[in-house]
Amino acid sequence: MPARINFRSLMKIGPVQIGTYRDRHGRNKDAAVCTTDGCGWSSDYSSSTAAQLAARSHRCRVS
Ligand SMILES: [Zn+2]
Repeated sequence: MPARINFRSLMKIGPVQIGTYRDRHGRNKDAAVCTTDGCGWSSDYSSSTAAQLAARSHRCRVS
């Protein structure tokens, strides 16, 4: 996972943590990161609403 500088956690939906961070261009990005060991799913979104939707629909593929 790339280092997320200034990652601020906003909320947690199930195992997925949602936060905002500032990318190297100085823009705020919304990211959803699964905290389950071995899953490693993470994705960036342009809005926190999109990140929340993705977090709710995320299903871990770890059995
Ligand atoms: Zn997961």
